Amino acid sequence: MINFQYSRAADVADAVRQIAADPGAKFIAGGTNLIDLMKEDVERPSRLIDISRLPLTAIEETVGGGLRIGALVPNSDLAHHPLIAQHYPMLGSAILAGASAQLRNMASTGGNLLQRTRCYYFYDTATPCNKRAPGSGCSALNGLNRMHAILGTSESCIATHPSDMCVALAALDATVNVAGPRGERTIAFADFHRPPGDTPQRDTNLGADEIITAIELPAKGFGEHYTYLKIRDRLSYAFALVSVAAALELSGNEIKEARLALGGVAHKPWRDVSVEAALRGQIAGRAAFVQAAEHLLRDAKGFAHNAFKIDLARRAIVRALTQAAHGTPQLQSDKKVR
Ligand SMILES: Cc1cc2nc3c(=O)[nH]c(=O)nc-3n(C[C@H](O)[C@H](O)[C@H](O)COP(=O)(O)OP(=O)(O)OC[C@H]3O[C@@H](n4cnc5c(N)ncnc54)[C@H](O)[C@@H]3O)c2cc1C
Ligand code: SF4
Repeated sequence: MINFQYSRAADVADAVRQIAADPGAKFIAGGTNLIDLMKEDVERPSRLIDISRLPLTAIEETVGGGLRIGALVPNSDLAHHPLIAQHYPMLGSAILAGASAQLRNMASTGGNLLQRTRCYYFYDTATPCNKRAPGSGCSALNGLNRMHAILGTSESCIATHPSDMCVALAALDATVNVAGPRGERTIAFADFHRPPGDTPQRDTNLGADEIITAIELPAKGFGEHYTYLKIRDRLSYAFALVSVAAALELSGNEIKEARLALGGVAHKPWRDVSVEAALRGQIAGRAAFVQAAEHLLRDAKGFAHNAFKIDLARRAIVRALTQAAHGTPQLQSDKKVR
């Protein structure tokens, strides 16, 4: 029996006070990742601070025409919200590509950002893993690494970030609102998740004593030309081998603006603004899309079992951009997703 304390936060200030007072404590929202990690003995919080009843469940329009999404909005509610369907359908599509309906009902927006890697060795406490036990080594480097990263890896860790929602949020230029003992701050999505470097135990730049309160989206949602394409071993209930969030703003055939982010290939959602800049002004077509894929994957490096991901990602990028350019309708409801 592993004992831990349980308390409920009365409000955001109380949540921050409680976590700052106990460095071993963890927030619990939907519990769909944290409870699994505790059962596997990967996480051993001294205290669970239950934030699930905090009033962070609103989805509101912002003054600038964007959207603020409370950190405790369930993934299902977010995916099916009329404002998401109307203005940010790529985000809804990405959420519905993840997990199962039951999990999405429990999973929170903030928790989705902080879910941990699905690397097999991270969950297997009998094996070395620098992310779980810093300095112990990386079993995946020379082990089974089919699901692992091809971009931004380090000698310490080659894990991927498993979220679908975060890939769309990266492409949409979201920001993350957080609160902590030193007050509130905003983190650009590109700076939220970290590359593994030599500290793979730290997934994000969120302080250990900070809470996510909301995610904000800018006004531009690319509602007409977008695609979230997820390639996986099964058609549902599986993490991405490669996923692509692609969004275009077109004037006739000319690309006015492009967004491109990859999932399943790196320690964080992978976005390279130089690729997007190079697409600007080009004719939306295969030649430009193949060039964008080559550029985005220029530093990709495969390991023993995952080198196939490089070609898979290349093809997925071209397909996603082609679908986005054609305004191909996306699956938007559970009923249609099989
Ligand atoms: C079988 C299975 C399949 C899945 N498949 C997919 C998939 O295909 N795609 C996908 O994207 N996801 C998938 N998921 C992951 C799922 O989406 C996440 O587990 C979920 O989003 C986590 O949210 P939660 O609220 O349950 O987080 P919790 O488990 O409650 O918390 C996760 C972490 O976030 C921290 N936390 C939570 N909220 C906050 C906050 N507001 N501020 C600061 N810290 C916070 C907790 O302390 C904890 O460390 C799957 C999960 C399972 C179990
Ligand atoms: S890839 Fe990262 S998470 Fe997996 S074993 Fe290596 S250090 Fe651990």
